[in-house]
Amino acid sequence: MKLVLLGPPGAGKGTQAKMLIEKYQLPQISTGDILRQAVKDGTPLGKGAKTYMDQGKLVPDDLIVNLIKERIKAEDCKAGYIFDGFPRTVAQAEALDSLLASLATQLDAVVSINVPEDELVKRLSGRRTCKNCGALYHMLYTPPVKEGICDKCGGSLFQRSDDNEATIRQRLSVYREQTAPLIAYYTKQALVKAIPGTGDPEEIFAKVCQALSNT
Ligand code: AMP
Repeated sequence: MKLVLLGPPGAGKGTQAKMLIEKYQLPQISTGDILRQAVKDGTPLGKGAKTYMDQGKLVPDDLIVNLIKERIKAEDCKAGYIFDGFPRTVAQAEALDSLLASLATQLDAVVSINVPEDELVKRLSGRRTCKNCGALYHMLYTPPVKEGICDKCGGSLFQRSDDNEATIRQRLSVYREQTAPLIAYYTKQALVKAIPGTGDPEEIFAKVCQALSNT
């Protein structure tokens, strides 16, 4: 199965992706995670991406498309994958369509997660991630038992540098202008499963699974 998780920053794509990879035993391909790792490692990709990421802007399409081209060639992608945070522009979606067509395959579904903008700002500003295992927490909604420490592995928690209010607002406006048009793009291909993204993550996951059960 080849899936796209579509939604604004803070919609819960990462949380749903983590549950989906368990259920379907597929890799999660998060372009944001790949880019953050590249920045940390100081690779040419990371150096090219950092300024855009710090400003809450999108990294140029060609860098992203090349990264995806390489990633889906890997052995673990044979049975499918779950894109989280990709594609983010119509140009990326078109490039993905041609890439998949050249491999004689196509997407199975696009799960579009909807959350009101005020809620997104609240979620993103309280978000914390484990440095070690990537587990996600929220300071108000799902805090760890011990402040700053991951319940699952004992790793320390950090706040993403782009989860500050000014950058959050910029990322949301980038989403509205450049990524939201993908809903219409994929609706034309009859791939969209629209899921309300408010409430308990487990309940949202049940709705996602229900929507995917007949793909
Ligand atoms: P995310 O973790 O998905 O919120 O992504 C964090 C940042 O990485 C974004 O604000 C962009 O700067 C960059 N990024 C991630 N995925 C993409 C993409 N598909 N296209 C362009 N930039 C991206």
